[in-house]
Amino acid sequence: KTPVPSDIQISRAQPPKDIHQVARECGILEEEIELYGKKKAKVSLDIIKRLEKQHDGRYVVVVGITPTPLGEGKSTTTIGLAQALGARLGINTFACMRQPSQGPTFGIKGGAAGGGYAQVIPMEEFNLHLTGDIHAITAANNLLAAAIDARMFHESTQSDEALFNRLCPQNKQGVRPLSAVQKRRLERLGIPVVDDANKLSVEDRKRFSRLNIDPDHITWHRVLDTNDRFLRKIQIGLGDAEKAHSRETRFDIAVASELMAILALTRSLADMRKQIAKIVIGTDKESNPVTADDVGVTDALTVLMRDTVKPNLMQTLEGTPVFVHAGPFANIAHGASSILADMVALKLVGEKGFVVTEAGFGADIGMEKFFNIKCRQSGLVPSAVVLVATVRALKMHGGGPPVVAGAPLKHEYTEENLELLEAGCDSNLRKQIENVAYFGIPVIVSVNQFATDTDKELNMVVEKAKKYGAYDAVIANHWAKGGEGALDLANALLKATEKPANFKFLYPLEMSLEDKIRTIAQKIYGAKDIELSEKAKKKIELYTKQGFGKLPICMAKTQLSLSHDPTKKGAPKDFMLPVRDVSASVGAGFIFPLCGDIMTMPGLNTRPCFYDITIDPETEIIDGLF
Ligand code: ADP
Repeated sequence: KTPVPSDIQISRAQPPKDIHQVARECGILEEEIELYGKKKAKVSLDIIKRLEKQHDGRYVVVVGITPTPLGEGKSTTTIGLAQALGARLGINTFACMRQPSQGPTFGIKGGAAGGGYAQVIPMEEFNLHLTGDIHAITAANNLLAAAIDARMFHESTQSDEALFNRLCPQNKQGVRPLSAVQKRRLERLGIPVVDDANKLSVEDRKRFSRLNIDPDHITWHRVLDTNDRFLRKIQIGLGDAEKAHSRETRFDIAVASELMAILALTRSLADMRKQIAKIVIGTDKESNPVTADDVGVTDALTVLMRDTVKPNLMQTLEGTPVFVHAGPFANIAHGASSILADMVALKLVGEKGFVVTEAGFGADIGMEKFFNIKCRQSGLVPSAVVLVATVRALKMHGGGPPVVAGAPLKHEYTEENLELLEAGCDSNLRKQIENVAYFGIPVIVSVNQFATDTDKELNMVVEKAKKYGAYDAVIANHWAKGGEGALDLANALLKATEKPANFKFLYPLEMSLEDKIRTIAQKIYGAKDIELSEKAKKKIELYTKQGFGKLPICMAKTQLSLSHDPTKKGAPKDFMLPVRDVSASVGAGFIFPLCGDIMTMPGLNTRPCFYDITIDPETEIIDGLF
């Protein structure tokens, strides 16, 4: 019935410009791009130095109300808005997007290139492999995992002296030279740094050589970019030689690796190396943190990750530039694309230009982390928020039946129903608008129009949004019409960003970990208070003692409700937020409390997307991606 063709048909029908041309048009020099085929390129970070004196453009973040499992169109709106500003109004504009995990591409949700006439093209290249950043992360992550188990194995099979001799081999001159990473370990242990390890006392040799990693407290896991439920819990070391060290562990999806969060939050390769060094992989038998630097892999991991720091340049359907860079798993990390891509894009567009980026999940999670973690780390100041709302999600919040991925929508969603819609506006929309207000930034509500929405319904959302304090509210139809469909949104944004915003964080880092969690729960989620399990209390104590108490908080909570319970829609009130456990990503720089069961390795359902994905071997044309 719909006149809009499938996403991949639309993508294929529009021949992309050569990426050289896109680069030239947005002011990137020939020597600053590294081509990956004809439609994708990496951009060298030298560009930051060249554009140092340039003023930053306006920084806009697209966020969403609490979504249905289908997604309400944040990526689509990010691209539609960039097309409206860039291609229709002729304003320098960059869109900055996450690189999707290949798990969902073959699983249930599909890709993440936007949709309809608001997409990044070629969408098959966007969704598959891109320039290999996720593969590099997988390689680096698993090198560290292998290094941890190998180290425990060797420590347990060798005497103190033999271990020391292997770690610090003696050369022909009778000297045991130490590498840079080994010298750093001496420093951390408070042992005076020497050039020749022979000079170490017997006691220091032992302290230096034995990491004494506690196998029951290893928090570093292996990763793979495939939805493979059978890797959620595994037994490793079943071979004859390793049998004595067999232990239970797991795989996470590759984008859940702390290395992905580091890539997204780093500001340079030098910075990345420092962050990798700080990764805590677990504790020793005395509960001291053991770091990646202790394991000796810092530089090797940085070598594997070297090219990942360069943002990937692609284009929208209307030929405007896009950076696709980093995609940390929103379940346990902050779920936003990279700081580096935003930094480069803000310089490239110049003072009057725009950078439109996206914060994953609903505003209560994605936006809160975007501000309190990403903006705090980058120092970049946002100018406006676009809050994406849909009639269907608001009806669900107003009491409509559950929306299930893969099942047809119930009639409440395909026919006019102002009653459900109003209740949804008065609860979830109202609360998410209030949530933006805590950060002092103007919010424009963008109603993502679906073919079945009626005028009365669309107008109701606009009016309610204004009533609840939105700077402006508009209907957007870029999915069906491309950039032209988002012109009202673009114009509203131009007005909203005329004056700089009064941006502020929700909490100061000096606050205790517990109070930071409480602040987020009470202000953003609407909870009465938090309920820490005994385990969570102990972990907070441990992290505070280990010196990680000043890190920001990265809540791991369902995105399907403002509360921890995915079945509670609207704007739940007076609930206690249970914090089951607390973990730390010290390298990336945040503490993450776990509210409820958080999945770090998705599975495949009975009929995954891969059934529909085809390739014609003659033409190499791919079909079935969405
Ligand atoms: P999010 O980023 O919020 O998860 P997406 O932008 O990825 O959401 O959109 C989710 C899915 O919904 C995509 O497949 C997209 O093509 C589709 N979609 C988005 N907006 C519309 C619309 N207005 N009409 C029909 N389908 C849409």
